Amino acid sequence: MTGPTTDPDPTTDPTSTAAARRALAERAGRELEDAPALEILRWATDTFGERFCVTSSMEDAVVAHLASRARPGVDVVFLDTGYHFPETLGTRDAVEAVMDVRLITLTPRRSVAEQDAELGPALHERDPDRCCALRKVAPLERGLAGYDAWATGLRRDESPTRATTPVVGWDERRGKVKVSPIARWTQDDVDRYVAEHGVLTNPLLQDGYASIGCAPCTRRVRAGEDARAGRWAGRGKTECGLHG
Ligand code: SF4
Repeated sequence: MTGPTTDPDPTTDPTSTAAARRALAERAGRELEDAPALEILRWATDTFGERFCVTSSMEDAVVAHLASRARPGVDVVFLDTGYHFPETLGTRDAVEAVMDVRLITLTPRRSVAEQDAELGPALHERDPDRCCALRKVAPLERGLAGYDAWATGLRRDESPTRATTPVVGWDERRGKVKVSPIARWTQDDVDRYVAEHGVLTNPLLQDGYASIGCAPCTRRVRAGEDARAGRWAGRGKTECGLHG
C-alpha cells in the first residue's frame, strides 16, 4: 500500500515548512507533557491529518488503538524485516483484520535470501548495525517520506537510552515531528489499557519475551533484567538505529 497522497498548501497550512513544524513540535512537547496519550494523539491527527502515521513493531497494538480512536482509519506502518517471529506477523494480520486502521507494510529492498547471496549469510551475527541499517532504518526512511509526523510506542521506563523521550519532539534526522504518546507510561499502564480495551498483543509477551524484535536478535528476559535486555544480547547493541 502507499502512503498519503495530498501535499500541504503552503499558503494556508501552518505545518507546511520544516521550521514551522519544528516550532510546533517544540511547543506541543511542552504543552502536552502532562496530557493523556489520547489527547496527544488527537493533537497530532488534528494537526497533520493524513500526513501522520503510527509505527508499530507489533509487540502490542496500544498506540495503534489509541490513534484509531483519535482518527479512525489512521495509517499504521509495520516494518517487515524478513526476520520476524510468526507470532509478530500474526499480530500484524490480526490488527489489520479487526482494527479501524490502514495497515502499511514496509519491506527492505533485498529479501533475506538476496542479502545472504550478496553480503554473506547471517549478517545479523557479523554486523548487526549494517543489517539493521539495511532492513530497518532504510525502509523506514523511504516509508516515512510522505509523512510530516510519526508516532512511536517509546516509553521512558524501557531503558536508560529512552529516559528523556519527549511526548512530542523534533526528529532532526528526518525533519519530522515525532510523537511518543505513551512516553510517560509504565508497563502497568500498558497492561491496564490492554485489559480495559481488549487490545491485541503479541502472544510472545506471555512466553517470556518482554521486548520483541527480529527472531535472530531477540531472546527471553530473565527475572530482574530490563525489558530490552533480550535484544541483541551479548552483542553490545541496544538500539536498532530507528530512534537514534
Ligand atoms: Fe537484522 Fe537483527 Fe537488526 Fe533484524 S534486529 S534487522 S535481524 S540485525
